[in-house]
Amino acid sequence: MDVTARQNVAVLGATGSIGKATCEVLRHLGAPYRAIGLTAHRDLATLSELAELLSPEELVISGGTPHLTQNTTNERSSADTALTGSGRWRVREGAEALVELASSPNVDTVVAAIVGSAGMASTLAAVEHGKRVALANKESMVVAGPIMLQAAAKSGAQILPVDSEHSAIFQAMQAGGVDEVERIILTASGGPFLRKPLNELPHVSVEEACRHPTWQMGRKITIDSATMMNKALEVIEARWLFQMPAEKIHVMVHPQSIIHSMVEFKDGSVLAQLSPPDMKLPIQYALTFPKRLESPTLRMDWTKRLQLELEPVDFERFPALQLGFEVAKAGGTAGAVLNASNEAAIDLFLSGKIRFVDIATVCREILNQHHYESSPTIERLCELDRWARQEVMKWT
Ligand code: NAD
Ligand code: MG
Repeated sequence: MDVTARQNVAVLGATGSIGKATCEVLRHLGAPYRAIGLTAHRDLATLSELAELLSPEELVISGGTPHLTQNTTNERSSADTALTGSGRWRVREGAEALVELASSPNVDTVVAAIVGSAGMASTLAAVEHGKRVALANKESMVVAGPIMLQAAAKSGAQILPVDSEHSAIFQAMQAGGVDEVERIILTASGGPFLRKPLNELPHVSVEEACRHPTWQMGRKITIDSATMMNKALEVIEARWLFQMPAEKIHVMVHPQSIIHSMVEFKDGSVLAQLSPPDMKLPIQYALTFPKRLESPTLRMDWTKRLQLELEPVDFERFPALQLGFEVAKAGGTAGAVLNASNEAAIDLFLSGKIRFVDIATVCREILNQHHYESSPTIERLCELDRWARQEVMKWT
């Protein structure tokens, strides 16, 4: 790709943790990169701040009209006015507007940074329209990996990983062919409960589960990191993104979050990618690949002693990870059911209706209950997403 060519970027989920980091990267990069569209679900105040900073052409508020008309707080009211009254950008509402923005001929690159399967339709639209897709929304790959890959093969879309582990693997894989890879080793921080006595896990609070030791992230992925469902989803994401059988994917706990992942090649050589934990780096690489440009990210300090640990995963402590390997092997409908069960179970945990340890149990139960199909359509996957959420509700 010619990086001097126009790069109009749509940031889907701009108000989230990845979205805001993307906006920072875009401000740093400057021309030819330009934020042409930004989306938020509900957070109008942040959307309006980002719009002031980046002057996009279009804003999408996917959560819809009620938020524009309620005006229950001063903040909301002034954000509404800033968004709709200025006339400096087109403002559209609703989930369809996300798909339209992701498909727009004015958009070259789509940063898919919506959380959960809510991001799937817009991510798929971007892939179907041949965009460069910087993929943070791992859930869409977990739910519909083969459909995403088929669509990309047809349209010529390039799917570039934003997830730090997959970016690390992608970077290491520049050194050899897919057929030369022996295995990939995903690293996992271990989250807040890596050393917590096992008998205390049933009683952990929402607040404790939300306290991640190394990464600042949105709430859903923070809970996923505590259960290690995040790594389970990443195993499945890697299975599709790199077309790597589950047997060739390995996970190691690495509490420092400096080694973002590794690739072991057939000759025994292992290549790793290291950097301080800062998502701006993988985001920028997904935008500028194959170029590496000056970046606004944290740097390693080579004047200090550096201790890096790698240890095997305790599957008894993190039963969710086992589900990831099983689903990566099964494919078909399994990813959609695991993902939706997990999203719904997290909501129940956050609202105090189930315990932390129940999240993986609920997912296992619903996965076992479902009628597996090997080559589902996208409509069938969406139906199963709804079905699994309803099944989870029965646990309350
Ligand atoms: P977040 O909760 O901080 O932000 C989510 C964004 O999605 C917000 O902009 C929100 O407005 C939007 N959104 C929420 N619900 C929506 C809906 N129903 N429809 C449309 N938009 C909706 O989440 P995050 O931590 O930025 O994570 C975003 C994605 O990136 C997730 O898939 C996550 O797994 C992945 N990811 C995040 C990190 C990280 O460091 N935060 C790292 C790797 C991967
Ligand atoms: Mg990750």
